[in-house]
Amino acid sequence: MANTPPDKPERFGPRTRLVHAGRNPSDQHGFVNTPIYRGSTVLYPTTDDFLHRRARFPYGTKGSPTIEALETAWTQLTGAAGTVLAPSGLAAVTVALMSCLKAGDHLLVTDSVYRPTRQFCDSVLQAFGIETTYYDPLIGGDIARLFRPNTAAVFTESPGSQTFEVQDVPAIAEAAHRHGAVVLMDNTWATPLFFKAHEHGVDLSIEAGTKYVSGGSDLLLGLVSANERCWPALRRTFDAFAMCAGPEDVFLCLRGLRTMPLRLQEAERQALELARWLETRPEVKRVLHPAFESCPGHAVWKRDFKGSSGLFSIILEPVPPQAVAAFIDGLELFGIGASWGGFESLITPFDCTGYRTAAPWNPGGPGVRLQIGLEDLADLRADLEAGFARLRREAARAA
Ligand SMILES: *Cc1c(COP(=O)(O)O)cnc(C)c1O
Repeated sequence: MANTPPDKPERFGPRTRLVHAGRNPSDQHGFVNTPIYRGSTVLYPTTDDFLHRRARFPYGTKGSPTIEALETAWTQLTGAAGTVLAPSGLAAVTVALMSCLKAGDHLLVTDSVYRPTRQFCDSVLQAFGIETTYYDPLIGGDIARLFRPNTAAVFTESPGSQTFEVQDVPAIAEAAHRHGAVVLMDNTWATPLFFKAHEHGVDLSIEAGTKYVSGGSDLLLGLVSANERCWPALRRTFDAFAMCAGPEDVFLCLRGLRTMPLRLQEAERQALELARWLETRPEVKRVLHPAFESCPGHAVWKRDFKGSSGLFSIILEPVPPQAVAAFIDGLELFGIGASWGGFESLITPFDCTGYRTAAPWNPGGPGVRLQIGLEDLADLRADLEAGFARLRREAARAA
């Protein structure tokens, strides 16, 4: 019966599962999608029911059919024990960290981590008596030597979303688990379609739904999936903060999830083609894309990942800052802006030299990050080509 979910969805491929996950048309009068349920108050039939909170959804902060739909779909996709939905990717990072740390604990974080995650560790966690040590993203199993008796968690992000070092998450997870520590991962770049975080030893996996799940640059959402070990504490912490996502954003994210495999495949294809072209350009010193041998950790990517997405970086040959600005500022199709995973192409300069501590960043030229959207590839290439002409002119003028 097509108006109820199929039995044993595990027997199907990921695309089939994503079409059916988290919806039951027969519960919604036959309509295909679970609608947006808005609500704080939930009414109970009797005093006794209220006193014992006998209800599928006891109050707005505890969930709704809309929220449950995306939670269920994500839990199925990730192979987790459970999922919580936070109002942004960063909120997902912070609630995941708070669920496995307490005062007096020590935390290991990759030096390539998303910068706001780093700022949370250095401000809030530090103020609550949790000490963070940053480690070389390429450390692998050698991370064992950094464990202290009070090391409670290891945070990974693979690849780093600017510098693209691919981490040996299974080796890090093995060392962490030997020590009893929890392993967290920011898996936003690969999504569960290209990297099965829990199967590779991750206990708490984070996704900024803002990016590929949404696909539209028009919402903020964060998802945290947990395995059996970490699920009870994650749910408890999430309920305590009541860090609830809004129903419209959840609805749109679930809508995006259905088409994510196709958008991701297309982003991967377009990005690979552009990156291959960029590699041949004399203005480009290096391409930082996990599918390229020049990318630190490429062998690990090849071993563990099922694909690459549409975000990568290039290191330009040394030119003055005004030449980089001339390259970027005149682009017609690439927007200058943070975030990624949407249908439109973006470009941003980056420089991590000022804040990395464990693995200093000296790439030997200016860094530029590209998010490749769904535009025609030839148009994107022509836009960049014109940009390189401006870069050369400006560099010649400055010389
Ligand atoms: C964007 C991003 C986040 C945070 O997501 P927001 O929804 O913007 O808060 C977290 N991690 C990575 C790797 C990101 O790129």
